[in-house]
Amino acid sequence: MKGPNYSATELLARLVNFDTTSHKSNMALVRFVEDYLAQRGVACQLVVNPEGSKANLFATVGPANVPGVALSGHTDVVPVEGQNWTSDPFVLAERDGRFYGRGTADMKGFLACALAAVPDFQRRKLKVPIHIAFSYDEEIGCIGVRPMIAEFGNNFVKPRIVIVGEPTSMTVVDAHKGPVRWQVDIEGRAAHSSMAHLGANAITAAGNLLGELRLIEKELMVAPRDDRFDPPHATLQVVRINGGTATNIVPVSCRVDFDLRALPGVDANIIDQRVRAFVARECLPEMQQVAPEARISISIANQVPPFAAGANSEAVALALNLAGQNETHAVSYATEAGLFQDAGSPSVVIGPGDIAQAHTADEWIAKEQIEKCSGFLGRLADWAEN
Ligand SMILES: [Zn+2]
Repeated sequence: MKGPNYSATELLARLVNFDTTSHKSNMALVRFVEDYLAQRGVACQLVVNPEGSKANLFATVGPANVPGVALSGHTDVVPVEGQNWTSDPFVLAERDGRFYGRGTADMKGFLACALAAVPDFQRRKLKVPIHIAFSYDEEIGCIGVRPMIAEFGNNFVKPRIVIVGEPTSMTVVDAHKGPVRWQVDIEGRAAHSSMAHLGANAITAAGNLLGELRLIEKELMVAPRDDRFDPPHATLQVVRINGGTATNIVPVSCRVDFDLRALPGVDANIIDQRVRAFVARECLPEMQQVAPEARISISIANQVPPFAAGANSEAVALALNLAGQNETHAVSYATEAGLFQDAGSPSVVIGPGDIAQAHTADEWIAKEQIEKCSGFLGRLADWAEN
């Protein structure tokens, strides 16, 4: 029944082989992990998406129905299209102490270390179980993990601690920003440009809104501030505009997308309400005087909560202890940690590889990072035994 034991490097090679770009299925990878664990007598539970094309995987080593430490990672990777790779991105290549391949840093390196550690976890007499929690669709807005988190406290035990193994070069990250993306669709009324008074100009309304968004942006630069972040404040900016049809037509429609990177403590709902109130007060009435059918719809296209572990986090204390460090870091990129933390599982981010390599052509992870992570997980097992 028992399959061969694989090193983290061998597992990394296998995982990189699966092209799990977010828009593709991750089921082949999930089946591989399921088989690997089943051969060791570890049962998996899957949370499959409605289409049946993707799944989260949850498994427990050690006592059942006891809240344990979850090793969390996403199985999906970003596309390689348009990137100039030296070798096949889906075949692990070793050069100069580095492993090259899509997802090596972000974040199949961590998945491989976690899976490679399972036989060691099984040899121990774990008092605190160790969970494997692998998600899908992280790269497109931390979408996939949400139905798995919804199972915590229901079909799955809610983890006592979540270690999110995103690439931090094995340093301890206890805070990150939360991205929120809005989509604003403005519909006015078209008219011949020479008859401007007969139309409701959607771009003019968008211009009003841009002014307000700039005000919010400036306010966010002042407060709240946290010098651990770079930049040390929340940012808000318009990231895309589409509007108008021709130079001789009053623009009937305009779409504005804007992006917030919220510091922990910045409430996106307050910004959402402010924008809605501004639009209702300053943009729509003017348009509706001419065109009663004018509409402005505002929606949040995606939202990932910011993450702050807080001062007395058991997760952070454990990670610092296992990593032999005494300093934590804050980062500007988002992870699933905010979602876990908000769902009631104290979380921390620490994983092998450098975020600077993530999403790049010739993405790589240093061999030494894999070794460091494996050492960290060995010490986690020591801790979980006692
Ligand atoms: Zn990632």
